[in-house]
Amino acid sequence: MKDRSQELFARAQKRIPGGVNSPVRAFRSVGGVPRFIQSGKGSRVTDADGNTYIDYLGSWGPLILGHAPAPVVGALRRQIGLGTSYGAPTENEVVLAEMIAAAVPSIQMVRLVNSGTEATMSAIRLARAFTGRNKIIKFDGCYHGHVDSLLVKAGSGVATLGLPDSPGVQPQDCSSTISVPYNDIDTVSKVLDLNRSEVAAVIIEPVAGNMGTVLPARGFLQRLRKLTREHGTLLIFDEVITGFRLLYGGAQSLLKVKPDLTCLGKVIGGGLPVGAYGGLRSIMKWVAPEGQVYQAGTLSGNPLAVSAGIAALERLRAEGAYSKLADLTDSLVAGLKQAAEEADVPVRINSIGSMFTVFFTEAEVSDFQTAKTADTERYSRFFHALLRRGVYFPPSQFETCFLSLAHTKKDIKATIAMAREAFKEVAD
Ligand SMILES: *Cc1c(COP(=O)(O)O)cnc(C)c1O
Repeated sequence: MKDRSQELFARAQKRIPGGVNSPVRAFRSVGGVPRFIQSGKGSRVTDADGNTYIDYLGSWGPLILGHAPAPVVGALRRQIGLGTSYGAPTENEVVLAEMIAAAVPSIQMVRLVNSGTEATMSAIRLARAFTGRNKIIKFDGCYHGHVDSLLVKAGSGVATLGLPDSPGVQPQDCSSTISVPYNDIDTVSKVLDLNRSEVAAVIIEPVAGNMGTVLPARGFLQRLRKLTREHGTLLIFDEVITGFRLLYGGAQSLLKVKPDLTCLGKVIGGGLPVGAYGGLRSIMKWVAPEGQVYQAGTLSGNPLAVSAGIAALERLRAEGAYSKLADLTDSLVAGLKQAAEEADVPVRINSIGSMFTVFFTEAEVSDFQTAKTADTERYSRFFHALLRRGVYFPPSQFETCFLSLAHTKKDIKATIAMAREAFKEVAD
């Protein structure tokens, strides 16, 4: 029988670097052959060999309504016959911008782009122009897309200037980027003092999703808000994952902290390629053509993407969407904890809203350093044990599992049952 995925992967590797169009899809950190997906419906995806999986990848975050949700599919059908791009403004762009501004507390004006990477890149450019400063503070383990200046991970020293994570990124591209430990307000404070009047922005995932799910410590974001304000430094929330995911108004609504600029993506495109950055009118009016900060895009505000985004947000605005997501997630997390305990496998499960990560460690995970205490080899075995049984978790320990409104209590029960077996399998 099979394996069509294997066949396709062999072909893909001849023509596409690593066989994939985004690195983590290649299963390098868990080993094995990535599943080539043929279709998705609701909470499930089906691969090229006809195997079906309960999906917790959710396309890495966008699919909060599940796969091929009726409202989004309907909106796309209506739009596609009307044309897919005009290079001229449309009413729906205004509608989506109004919906975003109404939902996200800190956004008065917003610019639509094509990806989360474009959103963070543009927000950084804007912050530098607005403040007339160069330096950027980011946090170890936070990912903001593949923007040159943000491709810096853990600097070893406290306030060392960044070195690039990727060849091709010139040292000078990130020589103004300072990466500090997540949840470490004292270090942020020190770095701001050492670089007085030089730091344009602090950029952060207000709830981190790219080292696995890591929550901000109580009061951390509030203190970050206060410190950045005192230093005349802009606070940028990268809510590409959390925007419209944790709550309709994003993490800033949930945690009640208002940044100066917010980056969005993923959920706001309803599964199509979109990003956005927005904030106070006084800052956003610096963006061209109202201001001098140049930023553009041939397909920005794309009619298909925007119609999908509007349909998704309309569904999310309905009463009870977020409490349903949280309830489903809580019951799954409780079941996973119990299953791990029964198998005597030490785990830490971080979760919030419809996001969670099962870390194979005994340590509390509060930053990248502690995330890295996880047993990645055990995660890989767990991942494959689940995949074989029909549950699709992210192919890396340092990623977030996402639930959608299409997940059912039955899915949760089935997942827990399979996880129980998977934990037993990785117990030794
Ligand atoms: C996914 C992600 C990005 C990048 O978005 P792309 O659309 O992949 O370019 C930026 N920031 C965060 C927090 C993300 O999770």
